[in-house]
Amino acid sequence: MKYYNTKGSLVKISNKKYMHVYLVYNHAMNEPFSFELTAVHGKARAGIFHTPHGPINTPTFAPVGTQAAVKGVTPEQLARLNTQLVLANTYHLYLRPGDNLIAELGGLHNFMGWNKPILTDSGGFQVFSLGDINQIDDDGVTFKSYIDGSIHTFTPEKAIQIQENLGADIIMCFDECPDPNQFEYNQAAMMRTHNWAERCKAAHTRSDQALFGIVQGGIFEDLRIESAKFINGLDFPGNAIGGLSVGEKKSEMLTILDIVPEFLSENKPRYLMGVGTPLDIVEGVARGIDLFDCVNPTRLARHKAAFTRFGRINITNTKYRSDQNPLVDDCECYTCTNFSRAYLRHLVKANELLAPTLLSIHNLHILIDLADQLRQSIISGTFGDYYTHYRENASNRGDSL
Ligand SMILES: [Zn+2]
Repeated sequence: MKYYNTKGSLVKISNKKYMHVYLVYNHAMNEPFSFELTAVHGKARAGIFHTPHGPINTPTFAPVGTQAAVKGVTPEQLARLNTQLVLANTYHLYLRPGDNLIAELGGLHNFMGWNKPILTDSGGFQVFSLGDINQIDDDGVTFKSYIDGSIHTFTPEKAIQIQENLGADIIMCFDECPDPNQFEYNQAAMMRTHNWAERCKAAHTRSDQALFGIVQGGIFEDLRIESAKFINGLDFPGNAIGGLSVGEKKSEMLTILDIVPEFLSENKPRYLMGVGTPLDIVEGVARGIDLFDCVNPTRLARHKAAFTRFGRINITNTKYRSDQNPLVDDCECYTCTNFSRAYLRHLVKANELLAPTLLSIHNLHILIDLADQLRQSIISGTFGDYYTHYRENASNRGDSL
């Protein structure tokens, strides 16, 4: 077993399969943001990211509230799920109701009634995936609004200005997220993303917001390493890995996650953007990821699907018609402790509004609780066993992931 003191010097060694390395970075009390890394097990880490709206215990999963609302779930319900961080979307909120209006109304926390940490993405992903794009050049992107057809331009400076108006605790650099499979395009997009990251950093003025950099480079290992080194070199308070789970194979995503985190500072949080099935979270944590977000829990809920710990079930299946069991046997969420599969199936069949709400509460609980269990196992030194046991169960179950 290896232990390091706060300066990282080696003080004890033995031969264990899973190496325990404990590092403690002091939380600088005067800084609005700091990352306290409390335990490391192999590559997996447990930490605390301190923000002006409270601490975020990592690893954790963050629900997505695209339009400043997690679809079908109230902030009070989110708090009961032990949600530590909620995402909101720069692109959508800029177009409607407008970032200036949200600033006038006291910022996002006040506007959406959520007083814990919020993260806004930069709008890059949405501009490229949803926008009717008129022009991309090194300065920025000009696109047509999906709401009224009006023309808008996002530059790195504009993306930062909007995010400063919105007022989230964590804001993201403007980046380009292309199809991950084309080398030349990914290389050009990566260079542009690097240039835009420098401009975002220069444009950022609010000290009560932490600006994170984003690593790009598609499925190409050499590009990813180059991007990780460059972004890490800009010394942001946190680093994100973007452009994954966007059409590449699962094995390709894991290969990138095998190599990128080691090039990102260990004393800063690492955020894997837009990735969040149960297995993705387990595999991501095993590779040194601290933060996850994904629309999946609430999107699946609206499509009548519930997460198990290893996969998912479709609640409309006839076999649940008179099933009095909860969605997941030992799940402690509000939905599973109060309602049967038969009732949930009935709500879905009857198109009741309560159906996606109850399924969302369960799905979010599964991911938030899973991340917390991983955190506890890292702290107690049992992450290796947890990971092995989880993988065995996942492959035995054969559930759709
Ligand atoms: Zn449940």
